[in-house]
Amino acid sequence: MSRERARLHGVVQGVGFRPFAYREARRRELAGWVRNRGGAVELEVEGPRPLLDDFFDALSKCPAPAQVERIERAAIAETAERGFSIQHSTAAAPEAALPADLAPCADCERELRDPHDRRFAHPFASCALCGPRFSIVLGLPYDRERTTMAGFALCPECRREYEDPLDRRYHAEPIACPRCGPQLSLLAPSGGDLGLAARALQLAAQALRQGEIVALRGLGGFQLLVDAQSDAAVQRLRERKQREQKPLAVLFPDLASVREHCELSSAEEAVLTSAARPIVLGRRRPTSELATSVAPGLSELGVFLPSTPLLGLLLAELGFPVVCTSGNLSGEPLCVDTAEALERLGAIADVFLVHDRPIARPLDDSVVRVGPFGLESIRRARGYAPLAVARFRARESVLALGAYQKCTVALGFGERLLLSQHLADLDTARGLRLLERTVDDLLGFCRVTPDLVACDLHPDYPSSTLAERLAERFGSRLVRVQHHHAHIAAVLAEHDLDEPVLGLAWDGTGLGDDRTIWGGEALWVSGAEARRLGHLGVFPLLGGDRASREPRRAALGLLWATDRARARAFARERFGEASGALLLQALERGINTPPTSSLGRLFDAVAALLGVRDSCSYEGQAAVELEALAEREPEAPAYELLLSAAPPYVAALEPLTRQICGDLEHGVDRARIAARFQASLVELGVALAGRVETASVVLGGGCFQNRYLRRRLSARLSALGRRVLTANQVPTNDGGIALGQAWVASRTASEPRD
Ligand SMILES: [Zn+2]
Ligand SMILES: [Zn+2]
Repeated sequence: MSRERARLHGVVQGVGFRPFAYREARRRELAGWVRNRGGAVELEVEGPRPLLDDFFDALSKCPAPAQVERIERAAIAETAERGFSIQHSTAAAPEAALPADLAPCADCERELRDPHDRRFAHPFASCALCGPRFSIVLGLPYDRERTTMAGFALCPECRREYEDPLDRRYHAEPIACPRCGPQLSLLAPSGGDLGLAARALQLAAQALRQGEIVALRGLGGFQLLVDAQSDAAVQRLRERKQREQKPLAVLFPDLASVREHCELSSAEEAVLTSAARPIVLGRRRPTSELATSVAPGLSELGVFLPSTPLLGLLLAELGFPVVCTSGNLSGEPLCVDTAEALERLGAIADVFLVHDRPIARPLDDSVVRVGPFGLESIRRARGYAPLAVARFRARESVLALGAYQKCTVALGFGERLLLSQHLADLDTARGLRLLERTVDDLLGFCRVTPDLVACDLHPDYPSSTLAERLAERFGSRLVRVQHHHAHIAAVLAEHDLDEPVLGLAWDGTGLGDDRTIWGGEALWVSGAEARRLGHLGVFPLLGGDRASREPRRAALGLLWATDRARARAFARERFGEASGALLLQALERGINTPPTSSLGRLFDAVAALLGVRDSCSYEGQAAVELEALAEREPEAPAYELLLSAAPPYVAALEPLTRQICGDLEHGVDRARIAARFQASLVELGVALAGRVETASVVLGGGCFQNRYLRRRLSARLSALGRRVLTANQVPTNDGGIALGQAWVASRTASEPRD
């Protein structure tokens, strides 16, 4: 006989791991106990040595969603204990290994469809392997009294399941049934009651069939639903939500119906049906009869499957796909509470399908692509947050507040580097309040007072101002991290790599060390140190931030920097005689025309030169459409580039612009020009990597949301024997900035600072 004490790390809480260990121990007639401790599982087990090894082997192969990352084992004295038991949680300092919200498991799905089961058609069914987690938890350790289910007392039958170690619902904190669980109701925009429970669901389905807009209180906040097959209905949603052209995601009843509209690889289907159930961007079939207004001008379609029993029941009742988009006004945080939704979405939705389970924090739907080099996260929220995205290796804890758009919060402490869910842009007061609340939430949850607070170098971002206040409040050291350094560091953090790398930070805009606007950077990054080795040629950004909404301004700036005669003609042609003359004057005198090396703005400029569009209704629209255009010419060759031979390596814009304008004047197809432009950027990346001989090359920044750039450049550099790292679990856009800031700040810890 031997006895061992073990600690198991990974995703082991809130996923039925203790009952699993219990059953495995009982099966082998081993003695001992198991309990949650902090974010880990602790157990002692006693029995013949070969059986102990076999037991730990079984634990390491636990079924998903549980996942054992590491087991620490130590031999201890035998106690001749009899039987195996599950002990209750201790409130020791948590390491916050809480799982994300999980879509219904196969067993729960089966019960939902079984008319003899007591949870038949119950919109809030869940068990130890599935259901809400992060959206309901208020504190750790994860127990029902610290969730938003605390107010729902278990009925005798649910209590029996909850207390039976052999039941699938043993200590499953969110469980409920139609007798004791949350209830559905349907409300008019005035707040008046229209129906309850099953009747509410049927009436909501009826409203959708009639082309009405339904606001649904989902897992992590409100969503707006409308028939995706009806152009008129989708248009009405766009008008009311003031969302002109930005693509909308479509929710399908089942996988078979997704396949009718979208071509999916097996890897894409695996992610689509995973417990996280993100929105997956896939290729739309030409035969798809969804309303064209769902994703105008794009070959991609955002598709997803029901992530909760409520959505599953509603979609099964409907039998057709619906547009399903965040219940908010453009750029604002998601509405979470019913009263708030009635007020803010009252002019958008025709009816409100709501429930009475409080939502602990807003969680948007996550958005991903699945590429040849793995997951390409675009928005990380429901289903993924708050899983740790990286190993934390510093002694001092760090809080990081991100940038301005797609704000997230990162927290490094103990062994974990956490990234919050996507929050919002910070251009509204609501967005900023949500950022503040999330900081308190995360710090309280993890019981951390940060030693360091990190933010962007830009002093005027609301996140930077908040960071200053928090640093003062906690007496923490404030670390300002350059935007593109943070982009590269986010990738290093995710892949747990700490060696000097060449980082290509291709992005929209961020403040540079020299106080100009960067965004097409080649950086040498080694921990807290970053050196600018090269960049795109510089051109004036006409009207500053306004240029990102009006690509023709970027184009005029680009022409001004490269060919004055063409600039004058372009100004007259695209802005008219009077406005054109004023803008030329501004360029001449350098009024509100900050110089930039931004690749995002260069994309805008080229899109405007090609006549793709002069102004945008959402961020990055011109670049997205340019990419879609280029898809028609996958083999187009690059333009000739001029990259300086010695550092700083500057890619000259004059030859590129001259060739593009020349092709335009010769009537070359715009798709071919767009494709040649993108091919040139791949060649630029290869040329830069040729100048800087690091083993690994890191690609980071918003421009790598462009599939062509990301995948072609990765493939080319890999073929040249370089290790290429990109953001996978973490968004490559500004949603990943906080993580990079935390990583950089944690590496400044031992350096003296003034
Ligand atoms: Zn389940
Ligand atoms: Zn019950």
